[in-house]
Amino acid sequence: MIKKSTNLAVISNNTFEATKAININHYDISSALQTTLDFNQLIVIFSNKIEAMIPHSAFAYHNEEFELEIKSGVFTKHSCNYALKIEGQALGELKIMRNYRFNATEITLLESLLCFLIYPLKNATLFNQALKMTHIDPLTKVNNRNSLNDTLNRTINLASHQNQNLSIIFLDIDCFKNINDTYGHSCGDKVLMTVADLIKHSLRSSDVIFRVSGEEFVIVLSDTGLAGAKVLAERIRKAIESHTLAYDMATIKITVSIGIYDMHENDTADTLMKHADNAMYKAKYNGRNQVCLAG
Ligand code: GH3
Ligand code: MG
Ligand code: MG
Repeated sequence: MIKKSTNLAVISNNTFEATKAININHYDISSALQTTLDFNQLIVIFSNKIEAMIPHSAFAYHNEEFELEIKSGVFTKHSCNYALKIEGQALGELKIMRNYRFNATEITLLESLLCFLIYPLKNATLFNQALKMTHIDPLTKVNNRNSLNDTLNRTINLASHQNQNLSIIFLDIDCFKNINDTYGHSCGDKVLMTVADLIKHSLRSSDVIFRVSGEEFVIVLSDTGLAGAKVLAERIRKAIESHTLAYDMATIKITVSIGIYDMHENDTADTLMKHADNAMYKAKYNGRNQVCLAG
């Protein structure tokens, strides 16, 4: 039997299938699910705990918001598939599979057992949303400084082990104070959002962008040497230079100064940043709206 995706909306706390849920045998599932806020662990615990009551050979869990795809076991054609939700909050889709049909009694039981999974999934969602917020700049929606060091250290390690290149771009908006002073702070904020969007649209999926202070952005380019970084930096500089921002009755032109640096032996997160920052200052000194290399 292939059950189409159903919205299991366990919404009102009071109408929560209470008669089926209050079963001492199920207390074990409920308490086990309260031990973690990790999606992967929650799904594995749930699958293990229901196995004796609802034998299955595989499960798959997909969560779009956190880009999660958790799969285990042998995939077969009979499945029960649920889009889990609570109070309008999507909690992901869970599929349970095996090579023979699920009968009506099992499906009813599964649906009441899913009630135990809903609140732990909601807690995991809230926790992970909060975690994500601490790493995202609310204005531009790019990563903030909090996660830069972690990303740099991880990328440096990976590049060293795999003998790959690593480059870094340091970008600073030119004369940004003038924009704030002339058009106001909210126009300055719009400029920051625009610059972040223009950068994002120029990047590959493996490039990671950070807003590191007021009007400064850093882009970490894995598996990219100086030549590649130079091409990308020029592309970003031109995209920003050729963009015209409309604000109230004014049209505003923006330019940026960019420094680039490629990793050398013994570089650390700190030295990478210093070299890229120095290269950016060189671009300012040489007249702004340009790309400069370190050294
Ligand atoms: P330069 O070309 O030398 O970089 O000049 P600049 O004016 O861009 O640099 P400066 O460091 O003098 O000024 C940066 C300004 O950025 C000053 C500060 O008020 C502004 N700023 C910092 N954070 C924000 C923000 O979140 N929103 C807005 N609108 N302005 C900000
Ligand atoms: Mg600056
Ligand atoms: Mg500036």
